[in-house]
Amino acid sequence: MKKILIIANWKAHPATLAEACTWAERIEAQLAVPRSTEVVIAPPSPFLSALGDILKKAHLGAQDVFWEDVGPYTGAVSWRHLAELGVRTVIVGHSERRRIFGETDEGVNRKVRALIAADMMPVVCVGETERDGSEIPRSVEEQVRAALVGVRREDIVSVALAYEPVWAISTTLGARAADPEMAFRARLSLKKTLVDLYGGAAADRVRIIYGGSVTGDSLASFIKEGRMDGALVGRASLDPDGFVRMIRSLKGT
Ligand code: PEP
Repeated sequence: MKKILIIANWKAHPATLAEACTWAERIEAQLAVPRSTEVVIAPPSPFLSALGDILKKAHLGAQDVFWEDVGPYTGAVSWRHLAELGVRTVIVGHSERRRIFGETDEGVNRKVRALIAADMMPVVCVGETERDGSEIPRSVEEQVRAALVGVRREDIVSVALAYEPVWAISTTLGARAADPEMAFRARLSLKKTLVDLYGGAAADRVRIIYGGSVTGDSLASFIKEGRMDGALVGRASLDPDGFVRMIRSLKGT
């Protein structure tokens, strides 16, 4: 059974390790994870080790990775380093990495393949920068195809796709998020690409999640009406109590 996947992307928050530990402790103290759900917290990488000691009900995730294991790669945090800290889930190709840090489709693909080889789960972010009309732009399909070059059918189940329309990320909470109907159409489009690449049975096993200004009020509808397999949550995950309430809102979905 595909579990609902909820990932808290803390980005470069909070400022201090002490605060990060407090957030994680608050989450752990209150969190009840439904059996059908998996919760992942992706803090800034310098906080991973400490959070790994705190998180038990939620899993530890990372916001990015480098595809080599060890070597002369100044500043890199490799999949091996992450694995060493107990990370299994890694966000790859987030639009902020693409836009601010120059991440390319080719780099995303190398990361995806390295993570699969290391038995880790890449969560590949794709999404258009602008929306013009109701159709999902072809560029999104191209991002998916580029990210999955060389990924075999038997491995695709270890990949999750995050549809994150860039125009909907970190807007005033809820103000410009895609609606569940739009997310549903994106789901169909991504699914079609996966079916084309891997066939229906394998495509069915891939989780497709939504990200972009999800709130406690909207999460359940993206899953129920948008038929999404989960969500990538940025800003709304920075309030530990609110994040726990979000997970609670999934009961019965
Ligand atoms: C994100 O950046 O992955 C994200 C979904 O952010 P937000 O929820 O703040 O839009």
